[in-house]
Amino acid sequence: MDPILERYHALEEKVLEYNPNLDTKLLYSAFQYADKKHSKQMRRDGTPYITHPLAVADIVADLKLDTESLLAALLHDCIEDTDATHEEIAQLFGPSVADLVEGVTKLTRIQLTLAEKQMENLRKMLMAMSKDIRVVLVKLCDRLHNMRTMQYQTPKKQREKSLETMEIYAPIAHRLGMSKIKYELEDLSIKYLDPVAYNDIENQLNQRFSRHQEFLVSTQNRIKERMDREHIECTITSRAKHIYSIYRKMYAQHRTLDEIFDLYALRIIVDTIPDCYNALGHVHDMFKPVPGRFKDYISTPKLNMYQSLHTTVIGREGIPFEVQIRTWEMHETAEYGIAAHWKYKQGINGPNGEEETYEWVRKLLESQQDTDAEEFVKSLKVDLFSDEVFVFTPKGEVKGLPAGSTPIDFAYSIHSAVGNHMIGAKVNGRLVPYDTQLQNGDIVEIQTSQSAKGPSRDWMKLCKSNEARNKIRQWFKRERRSENIVNGRASFEAELKRNGYSIAEISTEDVLPRILKKVQFGSLEDMYAAIGYGGLTAIKAVNRIKGEMATIVKERKDQAALAEPQLAEEAQTIHVQTTLPPPALEQGRKRTVTKSGVVVEGVDNCLVKFAKCCLPVPGDSIVGFITKGYGVSVHRADCPNADPKRRRPEERGRWIEVDWARSEQKEYETSLEVYAKDRSNLFLDIAAALSAAKVRTDAISAKGTPDGYATVYVQLCVRDRYELDAVMRRINGISGIMSVTRGKN
Ligand code: MN
Repeated sequence: MDPILERYHALEEKVLEYNPNLDTKLLYSAFQYADKKHSKQMRRDGTPYITHPLAVADIVADLKLDTESLLAALLHDCIEDTDATHEEIAQLFGPSVADLVEGVTKLTRIQLTLAEKQMENLRKMLMAMSKDIRVVLVKLCDRLHNMRTMQYQTPKKQREKSLETMEIYAPIAHRLGMSKIKYELEDLSIKYLDPVAYNDIENQLNQRFSRHQEFLVSTQNRIKERMDREHIECTITSRAKHIYSIYRKMYAQHRTLDEIFDLYALRIIVDTIPDCYNALGHVHDMFKPVPGRFKDYISTPKLNMYQSLHTTVIGREGIPFEVQIRTWEMHETAEYGIAAHWKYKQGINGPNGEEETYEWVRKLLESQQDTDAEEFVKSLKVDLFSDEVFVFTPKGEVKGLPAGSTPIDFAYSIHSAVGNHMIGAKVNGRLVPYDTQLQNGDIVEIQTSQSAKGPSRDWMKLCKSNEARNKIRQWFKRERRSENIVNGRASFEAELKRNGYSIAEISTEDVLPRILKKVQFGSLEDMYAAIGYGGLTAIKAVNRIKGEMATIVKERKDQAALAEPQLAEEAQTIHVQTTLPPPALEQGRKRTVTKSGVVVEGVDNCLVKFAKCCLPVPGDSIVGFITKGYGVSVHRADCPNADPKRRRPEERGRWIEVDWARSEQKEYETSLEVYAKDRSNLFLDIAAALSAAKVRTDAISAKGTPDGYATVYVQLCVRDRYELDAVMRRINGISGIMSVTRGKN
């Protein structure tokens, strides 16, 4: 028989084994269609092109996926490489198969050569672009076959594809819990990325193979005997760990092969969860467990739903090995992950459907409580329900934004300065209005100008992300205090009027304090400013004082009733006539320039000194303490000496709000504490980092500890927190550094 046809029949047989109801006619016609379309093409290894889709379908069949996925696998390169169209495929094989093929095509077309920090976003984008998770599954199978046949490609292509696989596709497989595919992708990639190390590990493993094989088989038999005696039904397998995980341990942790504990792993698969724990008990009874190596992923599953018991024990020959114990159901999830949930199930027509995928997510939600898990579920939701949109900067960076985002969101996601100076936006090279909704894959360019007049209030309605909205609000809060006061006062006055009161009425000496208490602001101006920048609505503000006003009016009436009639009238007249000083338009706090760079509750140039215990720099959040005779001492809000819980009750009134302003002072003295493994040149490296950061260093001193560590104290001067953070990051990058913290004096 024709070898290609033979391969097709092998595929058909494999599928019939798990899906006896397979429509063989349909599968065959997809094979024939693809074969005809690709008839003029060859693979680089010299075989007809159709061998590739057939092999991909074969991997899809290994995952036991449904018929539509199989058809999509056979047809997956038709749209990309032949004259086949979505319409034609939809007509012949149904719209969902056509959608799957188109989805895979889209993923194939994306150029994935970007900086490392973009990878997470890219992975998300890949997922978001494929609304049907089966697209990703087929794509992974496609990539796996391409990696398996990578030896026929040029060295350059081998490296490129391997890097992409390592950074994009293997993590996706991991995310989806498809460990079998993940391991193979990683091993194939590292083979091309670091061939010397790969061969080295492979050789070393081979050298040990026969000796260790003997050991593993005998150990396996001993455990099996014990389980049989204890009537625990089980299957035991053994294997060497896959090469990439050994590689990581050897090179990241600088260990030799002999220092790696779990080079070998035994797997015990049992029927029930109680059997898992029973089996563990017997294993620990038979072999000496290595302390600290037991992990219970049954009670606490991994983020991708992986469940098993792990332990490392020492065999009779002194060889440590890992034992994994799990049920068959856990085994299925461990090997195939999400694919296990898309699997064809007998008696059910077609795929298990969205519901089951959602079920998977729901189970995830229930089983995971910590923040990491939340993060994962959130991103998974993004992947599955696409509530995020991914766009490019002109430089090719990927930005993830909430679905429905506009150029305003994009601008603020780059930097608030970009948003605040935006004068126009281009999407895919064309000028667009600000309310344009961005689509996946759009290239967005923001035009800025230093003379831009800043965001408009309407932008808050046009943007979708909280980030953009907050930054716009911040801008109004900071830059436009006087304008905010005017605007805020106008809308507050209007709202007050609607409720039958006037500003004059609430501003009298006796009423005002009661009103301010209700609205929780220090002055009416502060409240106007808040209303002006959108931190508080006028309606809310008025609602807060309505009750109090009613009480006040009632009190007046009561007083009036007590007093003589004409006097009461007089009092009221006086009250109405009370005139107000015009609102003093105080300069924005941030605009104030003071000597120290600190403003004390609106008081300019009051005597300020920085507390020696915490040495704050601009950008730190700060509080002030009124000292006796030395002005205001400024502490970092997180300074232990400023801790509200530790403040003395009798001094409570002396703690006051302070804020950073523009400053005449250019540099601020502060200190750092570096904790590090002691080694030669440590001191020198820190000094070099400080000098590279171009900050003024006043003193460095170090103290070693007997256990080989050292604390280095650095006194330095920086402009602000931003510069200090950069210095800290620089020092952190030095080898051997354990921690860099602000100094405690
Ligand atoms: Mn392909």
